[in-house]
Amino acid sequence: MTDKTELTRGKQLRQALSYRRKNGYDRISQGDLEAMESYCGQYKQFLDAGKTERECVDRTVALAEAAGFRAYERGMQLKPGDRVYRVNRGKAVMLAVMGRQGLEQGVNIAAAHIDSPRLDLKQNPLYETDELAYFKTHYYGGLRKYQWMAIPLELHGVVALKSGDVIRVSVGDGEGDPRFTICDLLPHLGAEHAKKPLSEAFPGENLNILVGSRPLADDEDSDRVKIAVLDLLNRKYGIVEEDFISAELSAVPAFKADDIGFDRSLIGAYGHDDRVCAFASLMALLQLETPERTAVCMLADKEEIGSEGVSGMQSSAFDVFMEDLCAGQGVNLGQCFEKSFCLSADVTAAYDPNFAEVYEKRNSAFVNYGMGLCKYTGARGKSSASDASAEVVAYVRRILDEAGVVWQMAELGKVDAGGGGTVACYMANRNIDTLDAGVPVLSMHAPFETVGKLDCYMTYRGMCALFAALGM
Ligand code: MN
Ligand code: MN
Repeated sequence: MTDKTELTRGKQLRQALSYRRKNGYDRISQGDLEAMESYCGQYKQFLDAGKTERECVDRTVALAEAAGFRAYERGMQLKPGDRVYRVNRGKAVMLAVMGRQGLEQGVNIAAAHIDSPRLDLKQNPLYETDELAYFKTHYYGGLRKYQWMAIPLELHGVVALKSGDVIRVSVGDGEGDPRFTICDLLPHLGAEHAKKPLSEAFPGENLNILVGSRPLADDEDSDRVKIAVLDLLNRKYGIVEEDFISAELSAVPAFKADDIGFDRSLIGAYGHDDRVCAFASLMALLQLETPERTAVCMLADKEEIGSEGVSGMQSSAFDVFMEDLCAGQGVNLGQCFEKSFCLSADVTAAYDPNFAEVYEKRNSAFVNYGMGLCKYTGARGKSSASDASAEVVAYVRRILDEAGVVWQMAELGKVDAGGGGTVACYMANRNIDTLDAGVPVLSMHAPFETVGKLDCYMTYRGMCALFAALGM
């Protein structure tokens, strides 16, 4: 035996036995690259059209109706290939394409969320101090507060009037619209402030949005800037100050989705978490004709604050929709759920070499390595994770590999570094086998998040594989 033969044997063993991850660009075909660009172009439009969950629902319904979906009505008789949707209070939406099999065989579910971190206005938001007018905010979701200062903001939402009318507000995304901002301290005077720990340096009560500075003319009273702002709002929307009480107005970053990098391989935008997976799930559903198993896409609200509330994944709105579909076939909901399978389509953290200390590289997701699968999420000892079973992970490996999807295994960060959750546990609690799967994100929860185009496209392909599969 020569050394050369030994080396060959080593090589053979490595090839046969070792698991080595590979950059998706070394695995993707030319055809897929072209499809990826076109898919990502559509995704950027979706992002620009949907800065809040309500706007995402509207855009989803428009796309679905253009693809032949109609609003579900209780008692509707459905046949294989029928396409229906139900909107939950304007903030969440469920869509289904009926399969050839009966619902007693279970359904394939892709569940993503369409709410994103932002700054909500308080219910008594408008005030004036030192001749400047501001909105008080209460931030929504987990955010690093300093990132939301000294950037342009838009205002989106609704004002619900006592009359029952609901006024839509969208300021900042139109051509020539004014925008808003939260002012930060100048470095010249920041020496003392810079000594504070980050957790104390930016109190939530300081996230006050500058909304005006021009006092009402020919007026002697105080609050001349505030009353001038109210006058503008009244003339544009017909509202008075008290109407803020029943308003949901959110300040969101005034950024459009843009290609990032000389090679345009990434997309920077507000709200990738989790619109990137919501769009992948939706597009995979819209392209279906008549699947074997019924395919369901759930786009939920309130994930960023714990999936609570009537429009969150813990709400029975999902069960009621599924129960209605089951009733049409005389099927028991529990029977349907226990045979169903769900991909909880949510983003994961992408390994960031600038913050390497919080990641565990062997188990981190990398940009351009494809859709990230998370067996478990949670924090500090898998707390609050659904922790999918080995069999579930094996099933997903199989369907993704058979479909030629580029995917990777992912864990958020180091065990003791922190953690996060998704809707996965709420699906699993319904007795539905569930696995987390989604796009790795850089700068997650920042006003401008970054993702790899390859991972966006492969997550879409992964959702297509889910909807084509026959169940475990
Ligand atoms: Mn998320
Ligand atoms: Mn999130």
